[in-house]
Amino acid sequence: MRILISNDDGIHAGGLKALLESLQDLGEIFVVAPDRERSATGHGITVDRPLRITPICLPVPVSRAWAVDGTPADCVKLAVEDLLPEPPHLVIAGINQGPNLGTDVLYSGTVSAAIEGVINGFPSLAVSLATYDQMDFSPAGQFIREIVPAIKDNLPPDILLNINVPAGRSKGRRITCLGNRRYINIFHKRTDPRGRVYYWMAGEPMDLDDKEPGNTDVEAVRNQYISITPIQLDLTNYRAMHGVENWLSALTQAEK
Ligand code: MN
Repeated sequence: MRILISNDDGIHAGGLKALLESLQDLGEIFVVAPDRERSATGHGITVDRPLRITPICLPVPVSRAWAVDGTPADCVKLAVEDLLPEPPHLVIAGINQGPNLGTDVLYSGTVSAAIEGVINGFPSLAVSLATYDQMDFSPAGQFIREIVPAIKDNLPPDILLNINVPAGRSKGRRITCLGNRRYINIFHKRTDPRGRVYYWMAGEPMDLDDKEPGNTDVEAVRNQYISITPIQLDLTNYRAMHGVENWLSALTQAEK
C-alpha cells in the first residue's frame, strides 16, 4: 500500500512522527508536509509565488519526504501531481495537536489536507489528538494502524473520515456528526508600544448542544470516545433548492 502523509503542524511535528512510527510497516510511506506550522490555514493555496520543496531525512524511515514552503492543501496537490512516483492508495493528515471538531473543520489545515486528497480522488483521513495539554500521540497512532488496512476496500474515494482521539484512555469509538462549535471572546484587543490598537485572535470554544444528544463529535470526545465523522464535500443544501426557486419565481412574477 502507498500512503501519502501530510499535516498542518509542520514536517517536524511530534504528531507526524508518531503517525509514521505506527504505520511504518504497512507499505510505502511518502511524506509531503509544510516546512513550518500552518495550523488554521484552512484550504488556502499558494498562487502568488513559487513553491519550494526540500527533501528531508526524517527520524522514522520512509520512502521519501519533502518539506514544502506552502499550505497543507499545496502539499497534497503537489504530492499527487508531481512528487509521488504513483498515486497513493490513501491520504492521511495528522496527527494534529488539538481537536478539529464541528465547525473547526472549515478552518483546519489538517482537515483541508484530507479534503485535498478527496478532491483528487483518494480515500483520506484527518486525525487529531483532541488536546493541547499532552503529547502522547501513540493511542491515536495505534487506532489508525488498526483501521488503515480495511480502508482501501471500504472507504469510497469521495468521503473523508475526520477522526478525533481524546487524551488518555478512550472508552471506544463512535460514528458521529459534526457538532455545533462556536468561539466566544475571540479577539484580545491590546495596544502596542507605539500606542496603536491591535487585535489577536484566540477565543474559547463554546459547544452548542443543539443536535441529537449522543451523536456529535464534540460530545463523543467529551465522553472519552474516539470520534469518527464521515465528511462529504458537496455543501449543496438540496432541501433548499426548491424553496429558493419558488421565491425567486414569485419575485420575477411580481415584477412583470
Ligand atoms: Mn495544527
